[in-house]
Amino acid sequence: MKIGFIGLGNMGAPMAKNLVAAGHDVIGFDVAGVTVDGVEPAGRAVDAVKSAEAVVTMLPNGAILRSVYEEIVPAAVEGAVLIDCSTVDVESARAAHKLAADTKKLSVDAPVSGGIGGAAAGTLTFMAGGQDDAFLMAKPLFDVMGQKTVHCGKAGAGQAAKICNNMILGISMIGVCESFALADKLELDRQKLFDVVSTSSGSCWSVNTYCPAPGVGPASPADNDYKPGFAAELMLKDLLLSQQAAENVDAATPMGALASALYQAFVDGGGRGKDFSAMLPHLMNAGHKQ
Ligand code: NAD
Repeated sequence: MKIGFIGLGNMGAPMAKNLVAAGHDVIGFDVAGVTVDGVEPAGRAVDAVKSAEAVVTMLPNGAILRSVYEEIVPAAVEGAVLIDCSTVDVESARAAHKLAADTKKLSVDAPVSGGIGGAAAGTLTFMAGGQDDAFLMAKPLFDVMGQKTVHCGKAGAGQAAKICNNMILGISMIGVCESFALADKLELDRQKLFDVVSTSSGSCWSVNTYCPAPGVGPASPADNDYKPGFAAELMLKDLLLSQQAAENVDAATPMGALASALYQAFVDGGGRGKDFSAMLPHLMNAGHKQ
């Protein structure tokens, strides 16, 4: 397939590389002038899309996605599929779908989970939203870049699934960190707490797979001085997107709101650049009234 790829950052570059390795003909563009081995560089975004059968975007936020789509959608080939893998607000995702539909292009919102490691290994999970014909055209590319894809529903459903999942993750990670911080003060051994919780009703991904306590459970960023992993500011981004969505549809998400406020305070107070599980040392330094 001839593929245009826009946004060759931490995630986009390895994803584009995997498409090249699978034999696709990839032409890429990034405002920062990034180049990727095997990806033909384009001088402008429109040059990357004008003869592409599929266009993948992997951009920082909804405002940038909208401005890039305004530029590239008119230049894309009729019948091409536009696949946005960025994490953005549901409204921007729907606006991007509308721009594509207005000019007879197929579109899918397909945010990912799995991080930089998953992007490099081709083991991402894609959460897709859009019509069946668009999804079916994009599916072979998801199969190259990832190991699991769920077609979640119509336009915007992929973004909705992503922020709902990450709202659970943010809340559960704080809960796990609170329990380990409390256990310390109760003089309960961290390993013993892990042994109990990981096989009890408190078990969850945040403790079983990604334990925030160094030296406890499987290897995680906590064992590597809390180097990300999944950076605290990216968790904050997704939590804030969940709150924006909740406000738009008048949904009650009180724990999501609290998790957003706690990650905001953590990021502002020096957590930027640390893994989101470093909420544990952050809470250990705070008292009951935090
Ligand atoms: P990044 O900042 O490393 O990459 C974004 C790239 O987009 C940059 O190289 C930037 O120069 C480029 N860009 C910005 N504006 C542009 C424009 N107008 N035209 C062309 N290129 C432009 O970010 P990332 O970590 O690769 O994340 C990309 C997206 O994936 C984000 O939406 C993020 O939330 C999501 N995501 C990231 C991770 C992760 O672990 N990094 C995990 C899941 C999802």
